[in-house]
Amino acid sequence: MLDDETDFAEIREAVARLCTDFPGSYWQEKDRARAYPTEFVDALTRAGWLSVLVPEQYGGSGLGLGAATAILEEIHRSGCNGGACHAQMYVMGTLLKHGSEDQKARYLPAVASGALRLQAFGVTEPTSGTDTTRVRTFARRDGDSYVVSGQKIWISRAEHSDLLVLLVRTTPREDCAKPSEGMSVLLVDMRDAVGNGLTIRPIRTMLNHATTELFFDDLVVPAENLIGEEGKGFRYILDGMNAERILIASECIGDGRFFIDRASAYARDRSVFGRPIGANQGVQFPIARAHVQLTAAAGMVDKAARLFDRGQACGTEANMAKMLASEASWQAADMCVQTHGGFGFAEEYDIERKFRETRLYQVAPISTNLILSHVATHALGLPKSF
Ligand SMILES: Cc1cc2nc3c(=O)[nH]c(=O)nc-3n(C[C@H](O)[C@H](O)[C@H](O)COP(=O)(O)OP(=O)(O)OC[C@H]3O[C@@H](n4cnc5c(N)ncnc54)[C@H](O)[C@@H]3O)c2cc1C
Repeated sequence: MLDDETDFAEIREAVARLCTDFPGSYWQEKDRARAYPTEFVDALTRAGWLSVLVPEQYGGSGLGLGAATAILEEIHRSGCNGGACHAQMYVMGTLLKHGSEDQKARYLPAVASGALRLQAFGVTEPTSGTDTTRVRTFARRDGDSYVVSGQKIWISRAEHSDLLVLLVRTTPREDCAKPSEGMSVLLVDMRDAVGNGLTIRPIRTMLNHATTELFFDDLVVPAENLIGEEGKGFRYILDGMNAERILIASECIGDGRFFIDRASAYARDRSVFGRPIGANQGVQFPIARAHVQLTAAAGMVDKAARLFDRGQACGTEANMAKMLASEASWQAADMCVQTHGGFGFAEEYDIERKFRETRLYQVAPISTNLILSHVATHALGLPKSF
C-alpha cells in the first residue's frame, strides 16, 4: 500500500502553494462577514483543481477520486476550506453517469472550464430529513416542461451556482410499487429560475457555509433537463453519494492534520513551568492519540477511493471512511483547543474557526447514526430498523 501522504506529491505541493495566498486572515474576514470566498474559488478554478474528475474529452483532466482527495486534503490541511466549492468537483458526476450525450456535450466543457458553476444539489427537505423517499417537492409534467413546487433546506452554494441538480417526486409515493421509485433528477438553470418560481433564502449557521433554503412555486423547467429516466432519480442520487462521502472524508483528514500540525508546533514552543508544555505526557499523549486515529482513518479513506477508482462497490467503505475521518478530525479539533489553552479561543489562531467547521461533518452530508445503520444492515446483515 502506498503512503497516502506521498501519493500525488506534485498535486499536493501545488495546491499547498496556492493556499499560501489565502492565509488565516483571509478566512477570518470571510467568516466574520459570512461572505463567500470568491477569490479562493476563482484561484482553484483557474488552476484547474476543480475539474480533475471531468473526463479529458469534456475538457477536464480525467483524474480519479484519489487525486481529488489529495487536493481537498491539502486545502484543509493548509487552514483553507473546500466547502465553498468541493461540489463543483463531484455534482457533475450525476450528469456524467446518467445524462444524455447531448446534455454532457452541452454542459460538461463549461463546467470543466469553470464558465458554468454546477455546485448545488437539492435533496434535503424540512419534513423528510434523512428519509429521502419522503421528499415532497413535486414536478408535474406539462407538455414540454415540468412544473416544480415544494421546498428544500440546507442547499449549499445555491447563490453561487448557475446550475442545480434537483431531486423531485414525479409520481406520488403512494402510487409507486416501492418508496424509492417515482423520483427524478432535474437540472435547473438557476440563472433563469430565480425570481421566476424559485426563491433562495440564506440560512446563517455556526460556520461560513453559504447554505440556503429553496422555495419552488410553479417553477417551469424544460423537460429536456430531465437527467436519465423519469422515476429512477433516487438511484442516480445514491450513485453520487459514495464520491461525496469519500471527498468529505478527505477534507476531515486535512482538518485533522491541520489541528495536529498546529498543536504539535504550539506544544513545542509554548513554555510554562520552565519547559515546553509538549514535554508533559498529559499534553503530548492526546496529540499522539489524535495522530494515531487520524492515520487509521486516512487508511480507510485511501481504501475507499481506490475501490471507487477501480469501479468496485465501495458503499460500506465510503461510509466507514466518512465516519472515521469526521470523528478523528473532531477529536483532533478538541485536542487542539485544549493544547492551546486560552489561545485556542482566539479568532486569530484559526483553531476555533476550524473547530466549528469540522463539526459539520458528523452531521452532513450524512449523520453518523445513519452510517452505523448502513454498516449494521448492509455489511453485517442485522435486521433493518426502518
Ligand atoms: C451546513 C449544511 C450544509 C448542507 N448542505 C446540503 C446540500 O447542499 N444539499 C442537501 O441536499 N443537503 C444538505 N445538507 C443537509 C444534510 O445532508 C442533512 O442535514 C443531514 O443529512 C441530516 O439530515 P437532517 O438534518 O434532516 O436530520 P434528521 O434526518 O432529521 O436527523 C436528526 C438526527 O436524528 C438521527 N436519526 C434520524 N433517524 C434516525 C434513525 N432511524 N436511527 C438513528 N438515528 C436517527 C440522525 O442521525 C440525526 O443525528 C446540509 C446540512 C448542513 C447542516
